[in-house]
Amino acid sequence: MTNQLASLRVRDLPDVFAARRLGRELAAELGLEQQDQVRVATALSEVCRSTISTGQSAEITFGADVADLVLTVTVDGEPADEGIAAASRLMDTLRADGAVIWMMKRRPMNSALDLRAVRERLTAMIPESTLEELRRQNQDLIASLEEATRQKEQLLLLNAELQETNRGVMALYSELSDELEQTNRGVVALYRELDEKSEQLRAASESKDRFWANISHELRTPLNSVTGLTRLLAEPDSGLGAEQLYQVGLIRNATGTLLALVNDLLDVAKAESGRLVLDPAEVSLPALLATLRGLTRPMTEGKPVDVVVSADDAPATLLTDETALTAILRNLLSNAIKYTDDGEVRLSVRTAHDSVELTVSDTGTGIPAGQLERVFEEFYQVPGARRGGTGLGLPYARRLARLLGGELTLASEAGAGTTAVLRLPHGLPSVGTVVVADDDAGFRQVLKAMLAGIAGEVIEAEDGDQALSAISYGHVDLVLADLSMPGTDGHTLLDRLPAGLPAIVITGLDVATPPRASALLPKDDLTRERLAFAIRRITRNAR
Ligand code: ADP
Repeated sequence: MTNQLASLRVRDLPDVFAARRLGRELAAELGLEQQDQVRVATALSEVCRSTISTGQSAEITFGADVADLVLTVTVDGEPADEGIAAASRLMDTLRADGAVIWMMKRRPMNSALDLRAVRERLTAMIPESTLEELRRQNQDLIASLEEATRQKEQLLLLNAELQETNRGVMALYSELSDELEQTNRGVVALYRELDEKSEQLRAASESKDRFWANISHELRTPLNSVTGLTRLLAEPDSGLGAEQLYQVGLIRNATGTLLALVNDLLDVAKAESGRLVLDPAEVSLPALLATLRGLTRPMTEGKPVDVVVSADDAPATLLTDETALTAILRNLLSNAIKYTDDGEVRLSVRTAHDSVELTVSDTGTGIPAGQLERVFEEFYQVPGARRGGTGLGLPYARRLARLLGGELTLASEAGAGTTAVLRLPHGLPSVGTVVVADDDAGFRQVLKAMLAGIAGEVIEAEDGDQALSAISYGHVDLVLADLSMPGTDGHTLLDRLPAGLPAIVITGLDVATPPRASALLPKDDLTRERLAFAIRRITRNAR
């Protein structure tokens, strides 16, 4: 019985070589001698070569029986005689029967031969035929092409979908941009209207201030005469009877009230128009609080109201304008006392790291929640709660607070009392690099000394050009500029400053603040406090 160990299809020349290699390997495995191995290989090679040279193919089976190596070649068609003739000379036995050729070679007896191992080794040597490989490659290619076609179809589908979506998006977009354009047009028109309105408002407010300022002046003069005359009439030797004296007293009181109103109006108009000149200095807080304590004494006469001033946490001094600060606190205290029938009015001070809080609280009538902001409007008084006055105190106080770089707020609970908080900046301001432009070297030294502890660095410039080159060279936070300098003067310097860089003009000239400058300080009476105050306002605004 023949054991089949491997089979090989032969179609082309590489297959012939493979058949030859396999034949030789089988012969070696079966223990044939070197020369016989070559014989077997050559016989097989000859049969195969002649087969493919006639354009046919064949199937070879490699096998073994107990005594022989057995090769079976099945040709698809007619085996070529030439090959058979050659092979028959090399093999021990060759039999051809139609398309099948059996070839045998005797092999040595070997009982230890492991045929299964031989089969495995031979099988491993069988190469894929070129055609087979080509077919497999073709199949792979076809599969890939099919896959590519499928993907292409999908891509086309996706593309179509995308185009559809794009069309939708475009439509939506154009709809939206139409809408946006319309909205924008509306917004632009609205802004124009707003600009016009605010310009009208500004003009109205300006003419109101002018009117108040003028009318107050005009009213004050005759009122002062009336007050003086009534004082004369009220003197004991004026010759008036008791009844008439009483009436003159009434006239005096009424004139006093009128004068107070006119003065209030004048104050507000001044604060509003910016004509109020602040004179900042280190104000002693304990002294100021004592003055206020004295001022409130007559206000509480005949009322069970305690005025308590607690200033334990107060700083010794505060860099501010004393007159303005006193006016604000006097206003708050007088309101607190006016609207408190009994209980306590307290003025207390608290220091935070860069601010001071002055609080006036009372246990009086309070202000209804909805009216808390309205009481800051000019002439506004809480309806039904009027106790004299003009309704100008709080708006004036708030304006002054802002001029001082601070803020005034109110908190209140109807029936329980009101708390007014005035928050003011405290301590020296701090600014990085300052350029000092002045042709007077002496005054530059003065400014430098004043800036100690305020400016991180001071750069001196003799004129506008030097200042501008310092500014273009490194970072500068503030410019202090004289106006009249030889060469590039202060006006030109101001014109050429980069946008956003603040400048303070310090000049001996009697001129208005140039538009590009944040402030103007007169040179003659410049103090460190005035300079620090101006710098603080600028740096606070910048925040
Ligand atoms: P005036 O005191 O002259 O009326 P103000 O502007 O100072 O004007 O105050 C406006 C209004 O706010 C007052 O008329 C009063 O209704 C209310 N108000 C102000 N302060 C207090 C307070 N401490 N307690 C209750 N109401 C107050």
